[in-house]
Amino acid sequence: MQLKDPSLLRQAAYVAGEWIEANGAGIAVTNPATGAVIGHVPKLGTAETRKAIAEAEKVQKEWAARTAKERAGILRKWFELMMANQDDLGRILTLEQGKPLAEAKGEIAYGASFIEWFAEEARRIYGDIIPGHQKDKRILVMKQPIGVVAAITPWNFPNAMITRKAGPAFAAGCAMVLKPASQTPFSAIALAVLGERAGLPAGLFSVITGSASEIGAEMTSNPVVRKLTFTGSTEVGAELYRQSAPTIKKLGLELGGNAPFIVFDDADLDAAVEGALIAKFRNNGQTCVCANRIYVQDGVYDAFADKLAKAVGGLKTGNGFDEGVILGPLIDEAALEKVEEHVSDAVSKGATIIQGGKPHALGGTFYEATVLANVTKEMAVATEETFGPVAPLFRFSDETDVIAQANDTEFGLASYFYARDLARVFRVAEALEYGMVGVNTGLISTAEAPFGGVKTSGLGREGSRYGIDDFIEIKYVCLGGV
Ligand code: ADP
Repeated sequence: MQLKDPSLLRQAAYVAGEWIEANGAGIAVTNPATGAVIGHVPKLGTAETRKAIAEAEKVQKEWAARTAKERAGILRKWFELMMANQDDLGRILTLEQGKPLAEAKGEIAYGASFIEWFAEEARRIYGDIIPGHQKDKRILVMKQPIGVVAAITPWNFPNAMITRKAGPAFAAGCAMVLKPASQTPFSAIALAVLGERAGLPAGLFSVITGSASEIGAEMTSNPVVRKLTFTGSTEVGAELYRQSAPTIKKLGLELGGNAPFIVFDDADLDAAVEGALIAKFRNNGQTCVCANRIYVQDGVYDAFADKLAKAVGGLKTGNGFDEGVILGPLIDEAALEKVEEHVSDAVSKGATIIQGGKPHALGGTFYEATVLANVTKEMAVATEETFGPVAPLFRFSDETDVIAQANDTEFGLASYFYARDLARVFRVAEALEYGMVGVNTGLISTAEAPFGGVKTSGLGREGSRYGIDDFIEIKYVCLGGV
């Protein structure tokens, strides 16, 4: 693959300010569209993680002592370098993750927007002065960086899930030690290359590739790490939560979802179909905010099913580098198996395939964009995240009933609904037990808004002005003798 700047695809890890080259050994990274090996990253573990944390502790103090304006300037530079290299970063992302190139470049812009946003927020981390409780006293509230942050990120957004954490961490004056997903480390390494060029001090940002359990164990047990921020499955998130308990770390967890997408009788159906395409099929259904259950009211069920099946039939599946491709491969064999299981389980319990429904003729981990009708709550698709290109349609008649069904899950990340009646819009938005609600839209993620979930979908919020809160400690100073 031709890159304008080949040095961005670096087969290395970046530990405590030093590059550790893979030299053809370690973890092989493959292209999910072809199965071909792209390159290697080193397989590191406890020792390197410990070293990175120790160095981060030193560098963090110097970084925090700089003015907010200085930190903001370096973040701004990092953002500009990302955008200047958007094409190359997008290519690296498609190569290791599989999403279509246009979507990959979109992720780079989205990922960069968090660095831009938090470069701006860095200068606005204000404290407070509160009138004292006694005549001679004043109460000062300072906001200080939490210190060394450990981050573990997934493969579905190899760029943006990192910047959404690194942006606020560095803006607040923290250091970060990151373990990217082993399927997609090159996007993370490229970010480190650009971070170094932008002027992030050596050792402030380490990217450690290797054994998840070893790196995770050191990150969670090391007392120097004051915060762990994780995006991934609820299962692993819960384990990291447990491991972090003895050292009482602050936790930021962005975990699984099981998003409902509700279409009411009064919805604009064409808009709802368009929203469903985005909410369901973006990244081939592999996002934690993807619509997982589509509830459609009686009066519009048949019309919606028809329109959606037609639209889905027009989505082109293929290698993300090919022209016009909207859906890439699934990330790996296990992902394909899960999708196949969900579809066969649904069909065995009475669902009807109205579009797609089988592995794609392209082979590999490609699966046809699929729409299932007559889906019921007894089927696995109702309770588990499919994480693939399958849209299951449930029929409902009553608003109260659909809200109960939508909330009947351990998860609470994203939810969506289409309706035009204003009173209904408020009623439903308030009743949905989710951290995020998209009303008449299938696309809700943006740097300006707080992203996060309730229930087992996680803790904390990323992005927006609230995103900084997770990376600061509040210090109360009681000033007497005034
Ligand atoms: P996904 O289903 O998205 O792959 P995971 O939760 O399995 O979600 O993985 C998300 C991230 O967590 C990846 O970087 C992965 O390597 C890492 N991970 C998986 N298991 C562990 C673990 N036991 N400790 C620390 N990190 C882990």
